[in-house]
Amino acid sequence: MNLVRSAAAAAALFLFACDTSQPDASKPGGKAEQEAIAPILNTPDAADIHSYAKPLEARVHHVSLDLNVDFQGKRIGGTATLDIDRKPDAREIVLDDRGLEIQSVADGSGKPLQYKVGASDPNLGAPLAVALNPDTKRLVIRYRSAPDAGALQWLTPEQTAGKKKPYLFSQGQAIENRSWIPTQDSPGIRQSWDATIHVPAGLTAVMSAPRSAEPITQGGESVFSFRMPHSVAPYMIAIGVGDLAFKSLGARSGVWTEPAMLAAAAAELADTEKMIDAAEKLYGAYQWGRYDMLVLPPSFPFGGMENPTLTFLTPTFIAGDKSLVSLVAHELAHSWSGNLATNATWADFWLNEGMTTYAERRVVEALYGPKRAAQQVALGVDALNKQIADLGGPSSPDTRLHIDLKGRHPDDGLTDIAYEKGAAFLRTIEAIVGRERFDAWLKGWFDRHRFQPVTSAIFLADIRANLVKGDKALEQKLMLDDWVYKPGLPANMVKPDPKAFAQVDAAVSRFGRDSAFVPAAEWKTWNTDERLRFLNRLPRKLPATRLEALNRSLGLNETRNNEVLFAWLDLAVANRFEPALPALERFLTTQGRRKFVKPLIEALAKDQQWGRPIAKRIYAVARGSYHPITQRDLDELKL
Ligand SMILES: [Zn+2]
Repeated sequence: MNLVRSAAAAAALFLFACDTSQPDASKPGGKAEQEAIAPILNTPDAADIHSYAKPLEARVHHVSLDLNVDFQGKRIGGTATLDIDRKPDAREIVLDDRGLEIQSVADGSGKPLQYKVGASDPNLGAPLAVALNPDTKRLVIRYRSAPDAGALQWLTPEQTAGKKKPYLFSQGQAIENRSWIPTQDSPGIRQSWDATIHVPAGLTAVMSAPRSAEPITQGGESVFSFRMPHSVAPYMIAIGVGDLAFKSLGARSGVWTEPAMLAAAAAELADTEKMIDAAEKLYGAYQWGRYDMLVLPPSFPFGGMENPTLTFLTPTFIAGDKSLVSLVAHELAHSWSGNLATNATWADFWLNEGMTTYAERRVVEALYGPKRAAQQVALGVDALNKQIADLGGPSSPDTRLHIDLKGRHPDDGLTDIAYEKGAAFLRTIEAIVGRERFDAWLKGWFDRHRFQPVTSAIFLADIRANLVKGDKALEQKLMLDDWVYKPGLPANMVKPDPKAFAQVDAAVSRFGRDSAFVPAAEWKTWNTDERLRFLNRLPRKLPATRLEALNRSLGLNETRNNEVLFAWLDLAVANRFEPALPALERFLTTQGRRKFVKPLIEALAKDQQWGRPIAKRIYAVARGSYHPITQRDLDELKL
């Protein structure tokens, strides 16, 4: 037992005279589950600077939504009923609010409660403080979201694959859900939830929770009901509404998407059941019942979002040959790292992403073999080194795993430090203690912290208690505190296999020596990771003749693989290579994945003379089709 956890447990007992035992996943909807309330951590490092909530005074533990989806007005509105726990003498509860139009706040018996929306911060939105009477246990908030709510993207029929019906989807992480749900929007304040969603008849609503009743269509509307019995971080509440069809992939998995995309999506995702089995072998039983996926329209800003029971996916991973499905391994792995054990604050985002990136490659290894996993590790380390350079070198404070986000948006921490330095840390521990011992610890970690918030300090205390166990020599070898709290990469970092890309690296060297060489024959036999390694390892400055030869021999402008296309366009932009411009324009106007569009448009914008006018022209066309999150990033370029 470590100090931090006992302090947390004490806080939970002090605040809530209720059952804090673990939910029983084998009995979804069981009574024990309904009563389980996840603890609030009370250590200073668990205080979330990106939420106005004061959960140690009063906290939400269940959200019940009854909402109407209004495509004409681009608003979601209705009621949010919040069940709260509070200190007996708490006089108010503070929620997070971003642009919500609050119509009324009442208690469970309908008695109005005083409330006040405070000053708005550009990053955080505003506090919504509701006065509590001594007996207030429930709030009923009548409200609607603003038409520009940051979590929501409203697509016209023309912006969908089917072109006939509108589409809506949400993205809650990191702090967007406060723009459509008035609750305490902090990952450390876990809440169970349910929802009744009214949509125009003919559309289907899906959410990140199991359906709790069959849909009903009546009087021009359809009503869908959902219930998430486990407590989750509120950023994990997600919705999609559109012309959606479903195809089963196996006993407990399936895919939702527009009918026109269903066959291609299902084919690409054919390995999903095998992935769940592989992940369970590593990390213990899958706790969420079903694992379904929603393949979204191309404007979805991320690769994937691990919304529980319903991963949201970009369609850009569909390459026709399953070559990019490590994305699915990643989102699936989040069912343990991120969704079971969740970073209590965004300063410890690496606990979500680094652990998941590590686990993703273990799943890839189990399904596709050690060579492919070793290659993905090596690409990850390349990305890590590039990220460190971009952040100003190994002494930059933003290269720490536990980062300081004071005064900044949590998305500033969404870098390859969290993903790849985090993964490298876990790989290093694995290499030092051996896989068997490490796996046993990792399985135990998820079991000990399931449905709970975690911090770097909890991670370190747990690993010391359950893996190091007082072994001083081992403690020294692991350099745990250096990894978590110091910038740069510790000296004990396990290096990627230098032979992972032996053939590709030889081709890169030959390309440097021999100005007539293009690896046309090799390219045909290379997998996606090998192609990416080749393109990313080429000198960043190349003459037009050599780019022309590459494009002609390798068919780069025409590739259907979006990762390869991105790597090529990145190189083309760096060299002002005009023949790639039509492909670039097509890529930037037909999908809005932030990982792809942000670096390309930024690189163009930095090149004042040549690139900026191109960025300006393309962004003027593309902006309307991008998600608000992507727009916010790119608007900063003032194009
Ligand atoms: Zn992730």
